[in-house]
Amino acid sequence: MARGKSQFATWRCSGCNKPHGVTAYNKKSNEKITKELSMFCNQCRKHTDHKRKDTKKGSGN
Ligand SMILES: [Zn+2]
Repeated sequence: MARGKSQFATWRCSGCNKPHGVTAYNKKSNEKITKELSMFCNQCRKHTDHKRKDTKKGSGN
């Protein structure tokens, strides 16, 4: 159990399917964080929906 540890997530653009920033969030408040987030994509040059994908710390990309 990784209590109190941060969970890392990658946000993938639904437009160009490119992964964007990796963010850390507290798993405890996981449910408060939506699985989709509207963020500005430099590739699409507009706001697009980004889907969250949980990732492990330090796993490249
Ligand atoms: Zn995009």
